[in-house]
Amino acid sequence: MPSYRVILLLFAAATAAFGQASEGTMAINLSMEHPATHYYHVVFRTEGMKGDALDFKLPAWTPGYYRIMDYSKNLVNFSASDGAGHALALSKTTKNTWQVDSHNAQSVTVSYDVYAFNPFVAESFLDDTRGYITPASVFLHVAGQIQHPVTLTIQPYSGWSRVSLGLDPVPGQPNTFSAPDFDLLYDCPILMGNQEVRSFEVQGVPHALVLENVSNVDHAKITADLKRMVEAAVRIIGEIPYRHYTFLAMGAGGGGIEHLTSTAMMFNGSSLSDPAGYSRWLSFVAHEYFHTYNVKRIRPIALGPFDYDKENYTDMLWVSEGFTVYYEDLILVRAGLMTHDQYFERVQKNIQHYENSPGHLIQSAAESSFDTWIKGMNRGEYFSNTTISYYDKGAVLGLLLDLKIRKETGNRRSLDDVMRALYQKYYKERKRGFTDQEFREECDSAAGVPLSEIFEYATTVKDIDYRKYFAYAGLDIDVDPVAQPGVFLGADAQFQDGNLVISSVEWDSPAQRGGLMAQDQILALDGTRLTAKSMDDALKFKKAGEKIRFLVSRRGAIREMDVLLGQRMERSFTVKPVTNPTGLQAEILADWLRQKSLAP
Ligand SMILES: [Zn+2]
Repeated sequence: MPSYRVILLLFAAATAAFGQASEGTMAINLSMEHPATHYYHVVFRTEGMKGDALDFKLPAWTPGYYRIMDYSKNLVNFSASDGAGHALALSKTTKNTWQVDSHNAQSVTVSYDVYAFNPFVAESFLDDTRGYITPASVFLHVAGQIQHPVTLTIQPYSGWSRVSLGLDPVPGQPNTFSAPDFDLLYDCPILMGNQEVRSFEVQGVPHALVLENVSNVDHAKITADLKRMVEAAVRIIGEIPYRHYTFLAMGAGGGGIEHLTSTAMMFNGSSLSDPAGYSRWLSFVAHEYFHTYNVKRIRPIALGPFDYDKENYTDMLWVSEGFTVYYEDLILVRAGLMTHDQYFERVQKNIQHYENSPGHLIQSAAESSFDTWIKGMNRGEYFSNTTISYYDKGAVLGLLLDLKIRKETGNRRSLDDVMRALYQKYYKERKRGFTDQEFREECDSAAGVPLSEIFEYATTVKDIDYRKYFAYAGLDIDVDPVAQPGVFLGADAQFQDGNLVISSVEWDSPAQRGGLMAQDQILALDGTRLTAKSMDDALKFKKAGEKIRFLVSRRGAIREMDVLLGQRMERSFTVKPVTNPTGLQAEILADWLRQKSLAP
């Protein structure tokens, strides 16, 4: 991993040098006259770029979504011309590079079309109801000129009235925006259509909530709650680092991506029909919002400036994502939008999710972070046996660090101090990310003692001593294994084409010991044709210790297997306050989960 850091630092230095040398203009024009074709048309004009040839490049991925996307596969009709309109020769030199023979032309214009029909926050989409752009998937840059300023002019489809994004508008020019560099352009997703906008201010800074077709929710309540959420998050770090912020909420689907001045979130309001759904949604929005600090500004050194051509590796997504999960609920508690009991339940669920995944004995939080590019999204039938989520474990580690720092300092310091120190020292003063070692030094220094055990938890699969850490806040956590109701088989199955088909088999489970495999079609149990549509239904009347005979079809061959059903033992991780806390325990709990007041 050190070798990657060296490369990234060299890359950063090289792009900075290029940036200082350039003195031209760059302007992008985006249009979409025929949205039913799902093609955006882009004209990108550069002035004053000297050289025999210019390399135009499209990123292979977009920050916040750690997976190689190869966006260039959607780009067609590439052409280039000089200022007089003469065609310039060009060739494709890598999967995402178009080389134009510019022969020192003062002006070079390239034009192309991009297919966009994937309604997902890390992709782009266009039809006659909405346009959504992940800029890294649509806009080329000139190689070596990421730091060059650029203006973007958008001609939305004729039926649309609204263009929403996190860039500064150019005064007096409709739908024209400026970006100081392509890093910010790539960080500002664009939503176009006829969305509604609700606005609020925090410390005089405008925040916009852009909502698409959401009529079944109380817009006034959502806006008021988001304002409380933002205020609580801002109190943690102490200042607002942007001039305006936009929440883009569009369309059915899952997922959100964080940005410096905005966030894009799939959302159609259907998740808000009950209080629990509303609470989950607020956590989701608080998560994306807190990222404006943690990961966009408080960041590991690998996560900006970015190399858009390839994977950018870090061991610390458990900090960037996990701590953001940790803070998403803490922010809601402090904003008065979540009760203490609801918070303890969220903590419990989070620990259960991590501890009940067999992969917690195989993969550490650091390994999970590093390998997210290949294991984060490509989840095969074995993934829960061999991987964990750095979201889950990182949130657990954030909580342990917070309580440990509070305990060691008599509640004078907390994880909030670490986040503030990282923000000040690395983001504001040194204008860079931090190394693993620098992050650890900030934590140790806040606590005043080395935090070896917690960092060992981050880099190993060592069993976590929950009781010790929760006790610092006068909390008891139930870690005794309890027999779970029903029987334990250890195989998940899905009903497909009239059959129950095994989708995954848990490591060291009765199913695995009995020889069952993923993709086995279960035909009969104990000689009776299986009609159940779920595994729970199929085993409803079975008992632990009972042996049952599975008749399965495995790639067309019929097999019989005997499986000895077991009983699952699980820890509940129920969290509750102790009855007689010490003064320090009570003080830590009260300060950690402090609330201004509960929202009505
Ligand atoms: Zn996140």
